[in-house]
Amino acid sequence: MIALSLAEIAEVVGGQTHDIPDPSVQVTGPVVRDSREAGPGSLFVAFVGEHVDGHDFAAAVVEAGAVAVLASRPVGVPAIVVEDVQAALGALARHVVERLGATLVALTGSAGKTSTKDLIAQVLQREAPTVFTPGSLNNEIGLPLTALTATEETKFLVLEMGARGIGHIRYLTGLTPPKVGLVLNVGSAHIGEFGGREQIAQAKGELVEALPPAEEGGAAILNADDPFVRAMASRTKAKVILFGESDEADVRAENVRLTDSGQPSFRLHTPSGASDVTMRLYGEHHVSNALAAAAVAHELGMSADEIARALSEAGSLSRWRMEVTERPDGVTVVNDAYNANPESMKAALRALAAMGKGRRTWAVLGKMAELGDEALAEHDAVGRLAVRLNVSKLVAVGGREAAWLQLGAYNEGSWGEESVHVSDAQAAVDLLRSELRPGDVVLVKASRSVGLESVAQALLETG
Ligand code: ATP
Ligand code: MG
Repeated sequence: MIALSLAEIAEVVGGQTHDIPDPSVQVTGPVVRDSREAGPGSLFVAFVGEHVDGHDFAAAVVEAGAVAVLASRPVGVPAIVVEDVQAALGALARHVVERLGATLVALTGSAGKTSTKDLIAQVLQREAPTVFTPGSLNNEIGLPLTALTATEETKFLVLEMGARGIGHIRYLTGLTPPKVGLVLNVGSAHIGEFGGREQIAQAKGELVEALPPAEEGGAAILNADDPFVRAMASRTKAKVILFGESDEADVRAENVRLTDSGQPSFRLHTPSGASDVTMRLYGEHHVSNALAAAAVAHELGMSADEIARALSEAGSLSRWRMEVTERPDGVTVVNDAYNANPESMKAALRALAAMGKGRRTWAVLGKMAELGDEALAEHDAVGRLAVRLNVSKLVAVGGREAAWLQLGAYNEGSWGEESVHVSDAQAAVDLLRSELRPGDVVLVKASRSVGLESVAQALLETG
C-alpha cells in the first residue's frame, strides 16, 4: 500500500470524517475487510454481509491498531463514512493505481484464470517486483483489495478478473484499468447464468474493449485456438498478440507432449526466439496457460529463454488444483477438487490418463455446477470421455448429476458398465479405501460447492 492520509482518502472516496482527531494521520496498509487481518497502519473496510455486519468490529480493529474504518455509518471510532462502501473501495483502488508506476495486467476466461495468473506472476517476478491476486479474489471486492497491496516498488500488478454477467468486467476494468489484457478461453463455466456462449464471449471481451490503443502501449493477448476469443480482436484498439498451438499464433508451442508423469513439455516460440519448456505442473491444459503467460511476458520485454526457464520452474501457488501427492504405499492422489467445469474436467481426465500409463486410474468425480440446460449433456459427455480415455474406473459422487456421469460412462460401453455411483464423499472414501492398490492413481474433482477435497484429504490421511 502507498501511504495516504485520512484526509486524502476521505476526499478520494467523497466521504465524511467522523471521530478523527488528526486527518493527517496516514494509512500505511493493509486495507482489509476481515477484522482479524487489521493491524497497525491498516484501514478496515466495513461491509454489511448477510450474517455479519463489519461495523460491529470497528472498536476491535482500532484496538488492534487500525487507523480508521471505511464505513456506511458512524461507529464511535475514527471513520470515513460513505454511502456505498464498495464504490468507495473501488474509487480508492483507482486513485492508488493511477499514482503507481506499475504496469497493470488483467486476465479473464472461463477456466484457468488462477493457474495462469500464478504462472504470469512467477515469470514476471524474475524481471521485477510483481503483485498479484492471491487465490481467486477476482471480484469487485477482492480486486481493489489486491490492487491496494501494491507499493511504489511494484512494477507489475497482475489481476484476475471474474465475470458472472455482462458489465462485470467493464466495472472491474474501470477500477483498475489494465494496459495488458489477456482472455484465456470462452467455455461453459456459469453458462446457466449467462444464457449462452455468445453472452459469455460478450462479457469476457469487455476486457479488451477497455485497453488503451496500441500507440499508448495497449496489448490484447488472445487465444488463437479459441474462436470466440480470437474474434475479440475486432473489439479492441490495442495491439493483438495471439497465443496457442495454431500456426498463426505469435507465441506458440511445438512438439507438445506429456511426460510419463503427466507434465507437459514443448518448444516455446516467441517473436524473439525459441526455447524448451518442461513444466512442473500437471495436465495438458497448462500448455495453453503457459503460452498465455509467455505472451504476456514477451510483451513486457522478457526473452524466450528467460520465459522458458521461469515456466519450467513454476509451481502451483493455489491449493487443490491438480495437487499431486504420492502416498508411502505408492498410491498417487491428484486433488483437483478446487472447482470443475466441462473444459477443466476433460483436461483433468486427460492428465489422469497420461499419468496412468501402466497403472490403474480412478476418476472420482462430482457435479459441475451452473450448467443450466446443458447440464445433462455435459455430465454425460464427461462420463463417456472417461471411458474413451481408458480410465480404469469412474466413481461418480453425489446426486442427480453424478447419476448422469455414471450413465454416460455406462452408455459408452466397455468398462463403463462397471462405473459406480455413490451418494456422498464418505461412501466414496469407504469404497476407495477397500479397493485401492499400490501404484493406483486417483483423481478427485468436482465443482467447489461439492467440497470433494474431503475425499482427497481422507485418502492422504490414512495412506
Ligand atoms: P475460478 O473461476 O474458480 O476462479 P479459474 O478460472 O481461476 O477458476 P483455475 O482455478 O486456474 O481456474 O482452474 C480451475 C480448474 O480448471 C482446475 O481444475 C484446473 O485444473 C482447470 N484448468 C486450468 N487451466 C485450464 C485450461 N486452460 N483449460 C481448461 N481447464 C483448465
Ligand atoms: Mg480463479
